[in-house]
Amino acid sequence: MPLIALYPGSFDPITNGHLSIIERGLHVFDRLIIGMAHNTRKTTLFTEDERREMIRRSVGDDPRVEIASFEGLTIEYAAKRGAVGILRGLRAVADFDYELQMANMNRKLNPAIETLFMMSSDEYFFVSSQNVKEVAGLGGDVSKLVPGFVAQMLAARLGRKG
Ligand code: ADP
Repeated sequence: MPLIALYPGSFDPITNGHLSIIERGLHVFDRLIIGMAHNTRKTTLFTEDERREMIRRSVGDDPRVEIASFEGLTIEYAAKRGAVGILRGLRAVADFDYELQMANMNRKLNPAIETLFMMSSDEYFFVSSQNVKEVAGLGGDVSKLVPGFVAQMLAARLGRKG
């Protein structure tokens, strides 16, 4: 049986930090489902179709990677898809508290599915979708932090301000 993990997130947009986690995840799991979580509390800069397209172009046509979207509980979606693990990335210590709470809650909801944490390579340790959007919105160069076409889409969407 292939080992499947769900990698959930907003991916608004995908960054080199996410890609680093995906690459490492594929060293451990046979298949990854990149799950775009539909979160009613978050408004996204890019539509679901745009985010999907950016992820697909970034990972190429690797058959081990599926891109999906889901609503509701991450742990329920993971179980439904036959995942043995939920993959999450850790950046700064600031991620820890939130991730600890989520992982504990998910374990209570379904102890059969493990949450696994990976760290991105150190050059992308500080990269988040949020800070990439902020920098791009102010006209900064994010081309080393996201794939080239993502940088272009950011520039087109956010324009040059200031
Ligand atoms: P969310 O909206 O759930 O925070 P994101 O799309 O921002 O989702 O990120 C999805 C996952 O990828 C999270 O576990 C996040 O910590 C991780 N991640 C994002 N950027 C990085 C990075 N630069 N290094 C390591 N992990 C990262």
